[in-house]
Amino acid sequence: MWEIRLAGPKGLGVFAKNFIPRGTRIFSEKPLLAILQGQDTSALYNATKQLSPDDRASLLSLSAHVTKESSFIRWNKASWYIMKETISDLNAKLRGRKKGTGNWRMPRFHAIGEHAAILSIFRSNAFKFGRTSQFHQAVFPRISRINHSCIPNAQGNFHEVLGKFNIHATRDIDVDEELTLNYLQEHGALRAARQLQLLNDYGFSCDCSACDVVRGQEGEGKRTEMLDVLRAFAEGAANEDIQNPGEELRTMQLFINLLEGEGIAGREVATM
Ligand SMILES: [Zn+2]
Repeated sequence: MWEIRLAGPKGLGVFAKNFIPRGTRIFSEKPLLAILQGQDTSALYNATKQLSPDDRASLLSLSAHVTKESSFIRWNKASWYIMKETISDLNAKLRGRKKGTGNWRMPRFHAIGEHAAILSIFRSNAFKFGRTSQFHQAVFPRISRINHSCIPNAQGNFHEVLGKFNIHATRDIDVDEELTLNYLQEHGALRAARQLQLLNDYGFSCDCSACDVVRGQEGEGKRTEMLDVLRAFAEGAANEDIQNPGEELRTMQLFINLLEGEGIAGREVATM
C-alpha cells in the first residue's frame, strides 16, 4: 500500500504505492521508544538500553533535524546521563554493593555520540500525546517517517488499550502521493504561529502549500475567519451570551466546515 523513499530536501517520506480510499487504515503500530506522562527525556537513556538490536537500528535509521546549537546541547545532555550512570556505578562498586569482575571503565565517547543522536532523533520524530494518554511522547518505526503538512491527507488516533497508533486516510490518496500528518495539536493556527511551533518542537520549517505565501493565501484567509469565529464563540461563552444550544451547534458546525474545507483536520491525537 505504501513505500518509504526520498521526499526531496525533507529526506525520506512515505508514499502511496496504489490508490488509497478515504477512511483506509494505513498503519497500526506500537511505539519504538516512548516517554510516559510526567517523564522527561532523561528517561530515554534507560529506555534505549532495553531496545532489541533490530529496534535500535530502526531507531537510529530515522532522520533528525540537527542544528549546531541543538547538537551541542544534546551532546552535553547525553554526556551527563552517561557520566551520572558511570559515577553511580563506580560508587556502588566502591561500596562493594556491586560484585563485578571487570574494572571500572571510562565512558566510551561513541556511546555519548550515539545517545546524543538518539535525543536528536527523538525530538525530530516523536509525536506528542494529550494528557489523557499514558504516553507523553513516542517514536514509531514507520509512522514517524510520515512527514508533516498543515493540510494533511491522513490522521492518527492512539488506541490506549491496544497501545497502538492507528493512521487513517482522511481523503482519497492518489498513487505516488506522499502521505502526510499534521504534527500540530492546534488546528487552524496562522502561518507564523505554525512555523514557530514546528521549528521549536520538531526543528524544521514547513514548506507545504498552505505555508506558501502565494498558494496558501486562501487558506490563511479561512484560518483567520475560523479564529474569529472561535474567538467570538469563546467570548460569547465567557459572557454567557451563548445559552442557546442551537446557536452553539451552528457555530461549531461553521468551524468544522471551515476546517474540513481546508483539510486542516489532520493529526488529532484522540484516545479511544
Ligand atoms: Zn505548512
